[in-house]
Amino acid sequence: MSARESYNQTLRLLQEHHRWFQENIPLIASENVSSLAVREALASDFGHRYAEGWPGERVYAGCTYIDKVELLCIDLMKKLYNAEFVDVRPISGVVANLVAYTAFTEPGDVMMALSIPCGGHITTGKRRLGGTAGAVSGLDVRYLALDYKELNIDIDRTKVRVQKLVDEGKSPRLVMFGASVFPFPHPVKELAETFKDLGVIIGYDAAHVAGLIAGGVFQDPLREGADFVNLSTHKTFFGPQHGTVLSWNKHADKIKRATFPGMVSNHHLHALAGVTIACAEMMEFGRDYAQQVVKNAKALAQALHERGFEVLAEHKGFTESHVFLVDVTQYGDGGSIEETLEKANIIINRNLLPWDIKEGRHFMHPGGIRLGTSEVTRIGMKGSEMVEIAEFISRTVIKKETGDKVKKDVTEFRRDYQNIHYCFEENSEAYKYISIR
Ligand SMILES: *Cc1c(COP(=O)(O)O)cnc(C)c1O
Repeated sequence: MSARESYNQTLRLLQEHHRWFQENIPLIASENVSSLAVREALASDFGHRYAEGWPGERVYAGCTYIDKVELLCIDLMKKLYNAEFVDVRPISGVVANLVAYTAFTEPGDVMMALSIPCGGHITTGKRRLGGTAGAVSGLDVRYLALDYKELNIDIDRTKVRVQKLVDEGKSPRLVMFGASVFPFPHPVKELAETFKDLGVIIGYDAAHVAGLIAGGVFQDPLREGADFVNLSTHKTFFGPQHGTVLSWNKHADKIKRATFPGMVSNHHLHALAGVTIACAEMMEFGRDYAQQVVKNAKALAQALHERGFEVLAEHKGFTESHVFLVDVTQYGDGGSIEETLEKANIIINRNLLPWDIKEGRHFMHPGGIRLGTSEVTRIGMKGSEMVEIAEFISRTVIKKETGDKVKKDVTEFRRDYQNIHYCFEENSEAYKYISIR
């Protein structure tokens, strides 16, 4: 392909991607769509600049306007989360976690977190799994206990594990609450004393639930004992892809230093401007949005359950957040079902169930699928649409309808949901391709 053809081809593929996302049902729990204002920020000149250091104390010139935006971002984040100290420079959730490991631990320290099959993220993974905590920060990762039925951290068994570590002379230095499968608030308050008595730093990874916490519908980890809370700004939050650390003044110096010069040189200033706009949107629309996200998750889980799917945690109403898990072992495996649904224009992702590894299943062909309702909520869907989506999923997975009929019906259904909601621009197209050439 010539240079000119490659250039044209890339732009064509971007446009095709946009067209596809106007026609499909986006149910990936870690994804969302941002407003046109946020996307305008992403296309701005901020994306060409550096601003190493702290606003007002930069080691780069040309930061006059960048500083104003960053200070505004910090201010809005403080208000949204009632936080004393905020560092908005980490460029993603992974980098925010690296900042925390650098600020609060030394290689060889013990960290407790959920294992990956139990909903933990690769950033809290062990060294032998290539996880960030183990392989990059040299931490000795030990697991919090999960109650499989409740789909939440088991308080008593976790206390036993902590005591055992203390008895072995391996007292933890850090505990990370939070997860990538996060249907119910974690028992931070219930375990805070156990950890604090041992001098353990309490972290909370809110990558998935940042928008729900800002919207006031999930737990409030800083009030429940967390030393820091890490965000991704693009899962349930309204931003572009970026990260943030929320904490207390007593930890400010360590976190600032771990971020720069530790983890970032440039900190994606165009994204930072987008996050600032997203914070303003959260302040204005966050509560209504977050309430609807949770309502939609419960409604979609219920409608799938009524069609015969084995949605986990039925006795607790399936979820209190944006996300829930479905055991699909009756119909195949999570990997093949992910593919089948994608052919019908329904985008979900495969996911390990907590007991999958013990039963011999692995990540490529796990027993579950994970569904989230942030993005479908942002494009204006409510309870009745969740029932329609459940029916499309049922036709594909349970009734095994073949051919293009479901895809055609999904595309038709999606025509009515083209605009983005919970933002300052009314009637704006969510998946509009913005050309500035
Ligand atoms: C997604 C996720 C992250 C990583 O976030 P990025 O912003 O993609 O780097 C970290 N922790 C948890 C629990 C997550 O689910």
